[in-house]
Amino acid sequence: MLAHNVQPHKFLTRMAGIYLHIPFCKQKCHYCNFFSLASVKNKVPFLKALEREIVLQQEYLHNEEVQTIYFGGGTPSMLEADEIKHILQTLGRHYRLSPDVEITLEGNPDDLTFDKIKQFRALGINRLSIGIQSFHDDDLAYLNRVHNASHAKNVIKNAFDAGFEKLTIDLIYGIPTLTDKKWIANVDYFLETGINHLSAYALTVEPRTALAQLIGKGKLKAVDEQQSVRHFEILMQRMEAAGFVHYEISNFAKPGHYSKHNSLYWIGGNYLGLGPSAHSYNGISRQWNVSHLTKYISEAGQSESVFEKEELTLDQRYDEYVMTSLRTSWGCDLEHIQNAFGVRYSNYCIKQAQSFIREEQIEQREHRLFLTQKGKLFADGIAAELFI
Ligand code: SF4
Repeated sequence: MLAHNVQPHKFLTRMAGIYLHIPFCKQKCHYCNFFSLASVKNKVPFLKALEREIVLQQEYLHNEEVQTIYFGGGTPSMLEADEIKHILQTLGRHYRLSPDVEITLEGNPDDLTFDKIKQFRALGINRLSIGIQSFHDDDLAYLNRVHNASHAKNVIKNAFDAGFEKLTIDLIYGIPTLTDKKWIANVDYFLETGINHLSAYALTVEPRTALAQLIGKGKLKAVDEQQSVRHFEILMQRMEAAGFVHYEISNFAKPGHYSKHNSLYWIGGNYLGLGPSAHSYNGISRQWNVSHLTKYISEAGQSESVFEKEELTLDQRYDEYVMTSLRTSWGCDLEHIQNAFGVRYSNYCIKQAQSFIREEQIEQREHRLFLTQKGKLFADGIAAELFI
């Protein structure tokens, strides 16, 4: 039985959010294809450029109340508390922040000492997202993470002790060193911590990453897709048994503990992305900043050449809605499609879904389409078949 929550809009009505990309890391993880640099040498000019961009883009959200702020990266926990404080103060001066704004900061276990976590909490950061990935040293070595398993376990205790109630961690499955038994141990360890939110991702080998090269040269074991599928099935079964809602393909939460920020992306809310490589969307157009730190530093806040912009066609907006909504427990709403895009689109969507309904990969309930457990294994391929 699927756990469906078909009323996301109850807590997500007219939401707007801000994403800040902090592009620094201590070292590059082998699998990483995010924009980040293993050096903080340009940190000060970057922070100045970010401040200029915050000011320049203040009209982008049309004075909508900001419900979520998200420090992502890269590794935002490499910034000092004073630097984060300055960014928050600048945002507060130029945007209308909700009194109960969710402020998430991503961090890695090796940076997050008890003192630093306490300082972040004191600044009003109320949600911590920790990149744990595995509780086993050999998996972390395969991934080239900086931290080890003991850092990973300690940081959770420190975060609770420092007063963080909203915590989430990332885990990666499908790592060649991660046997089924070890994956079960990772999921069970997570469940014992009492954390109410988990993001879990399949290890993917992106082109031009160190992982792709090392596997290509035979220096690291290749990723086995069947192993990833098994791990995903184990994950769904254990998380559901423990009372978590699988509210997006890669995200599980206890009821009431969904990430507001990520949900905003999935329900098509407006968001402003600041920092190099950050993306923005305001319902009509999307834009994305240059993925180059020195260009960002010289151009941010001074010229529009720091970003590229694309006006979305109706077809593109429909595709984007199908892609994101189908991945969620709220499903793809045919009534919404009819209202927002027209009856031609809702008819097309239901027609394309028929073969997946017959194969029990999509389930229709009233006017919504949901992926079944079986369908979740092929989410991207199914969504592509529903595209215009
Ligand atoms: S910590 Fe995250 S952003 Fe940094 S290199 Fe690793 S995966 Fe990439």
